[in-house]
Amino acid sequence: MEKIIDEKKQGESLVLDPQKETEETVRNGRDSRKLYIESYGCQMNFSDSEIVASILANAGFNTTQQLEEADLVLINTCSIREKAEQTVRKRLEKFNAVKKINPGMKVGVLGCMAERLKSKFLEEEKIVDMVVGPDAYKDLPNLVQEIDEGRNAVNVILSKEETYGDVAPVRLNSNGITAFVSITRGCDNMCTFCVVPFTRGRERSRDPQSILEEVNELWEKGYKEVTLLGQNVDSYLWYGGGLKKDFETASDIQKATAVNFAGLLAMVAEAQPGLRIRFSTSNPQDMTLDAIEVMSRYKNICKYIHLPVQSGSNRILKAMNRLHTREEYFELIDNIRKIIPDCAISHDMITGFPTETEEDHQDTLSLMDYVKYDFGFMFAYSERPGTLAARKMEDDVPEEAKKRRLTEIINLQQQHGLYRTQQHLGKTEEVLVEGTSKKSDAHWMGRNTQNTVVVFPKEHYNIGDFVNVKITDCTAATLIGEAVGYSE
Ligand code: SAM
Repeated sequence: MEKIIDEKKQGESLVLDPQKETEETVRNGRDSRKLYIESYGCQMNFSDSEIVASILANAGFNTTQQLEEADLVLINTCSIREKAEQTVRKRLEKFNAVKKINPGMKVGVLGCMAERLKSKFLEEEKIVDMVVGPDAYKDLPNLVQEIDEGRNAVNVILSKEETYGDVAPVRLNSNGITAFVSITRGCDNMCTFCVVPFTRGRERSRDPQSILEEVNELWEKGYKEVTLLGQNVDSYLWYGGGLKKDFETASDIQKATAVNFAGLLAMVAEAQPGLRIRFSTSNPQDMTLDAIEVMSRYKNICKYIHLPVQSGSNRILKAMNRLHTREEYFELIDNIRKIIPDCAISHDMITGFPTETEEDHQDTLSLMDYVKYDFGFMFAYSERPGTLAARKMEDDVPEEAKKRRLTEIINLQQQHGLYRTQQHLGKTEEVLVEGTSKKSDAHWMGRNTQNTVVVFPKEHYNIGDFVNVKITDCTAATLIGEAVGYSE
């Protein structure tokens, strides 16, 4: 399930690239302390870990991949589904076992599990020294000092303002080619299944100037692609700071000079015409025609939209508080295809939401048949404490039905994936080389504008090259081809 939740990257220990590490070591002296940081969940969390590493680098920490030698172990947590929380718990048990050998080691929990589980972790179970919520990372140097002095430390306050626009993230486990840039934090959508508004707070947008500065800096360092990140990027709205929901109370001048997502997208695309631009995630209720038109106008904006729908049934969409119908979603898909005929579209889908019947499930399958998505990220419903669905609805779809429906939508997605990849056969497409193929050292792996993975023989090409590749074969998720030269 690459991109939103890349299973292979879950829990990977994150480290600075060696060059940066050397700079930090020189700056902080050879005896600087060692930070081990692991991330779980969505791309936003991985991006936040880069902000955390930057803040702690300035406080004298270097990253390490060796858990046993760490002075500080941080785990950036996800609570989107129960399984994610269980994984984190297992890791905390492991950290506590290591602590027995290295008693000086301190353990901190960051991210989405912080607010709900702070007392449990710190006071009841006593398995961590520090708990820090997603808006409190700038407080980390103070909190570390607290734990150094033998006290537990906690800050889970959610902010109306914090966007970390003034923190230059360091890049962790980077290929030096693709990077993520946060543009919004929090979410106002209140989908009834989702914990995000509770764990990450209300939605706020980052100053476009600081976004442009980060993008320009990435370009200067040799990066070739950025993904603008947010829970709901299309809802981006900068009017001088503050929560999105308070826009109505903004002054006339603030309203007149406000920047929306379409405006931001155009600014970023124009600032660096040689840089590929992607964005994620789009919510159907907020995606506007002007954003799609901006995509079609700029060659460097990739032709790919991640457009989660969650269900194909109008009844379930309503129960989920998704503020659109199946018919409105189709209209949006039709408009995207009209304006950008070769645009790839992917989805998130939840099976077994409370009260979901076989008829609702059939509606989901027929919606998928209509769209024929290029990719998909599919999940069985997991009840999350505190959400409206958990408070008001019984988790009443039997586990086997959830699993069977999930298998059916995954199988259908496989068919659609293959249908989509087959449309590329015989075409020559521009691919940005990201690294060596997982299956063969003799092949590069990169992506075309639609975000489909392309593999081809390495020849004389290098990481970071834009290469024209003739597509000769495919699987449901991968295109296979041969390079025909550099692209312009
Ligand atoms: N706001 C982003 C979005 O709409 O894609 C990210 C939300 S979440 C990180 C990614 C996906 O997890 C959601 O789109 C949804 O399909 C899934 N998800 C969220 N809550 C869930 C739950 N309670 N049970 C199962 N899947 C869930």
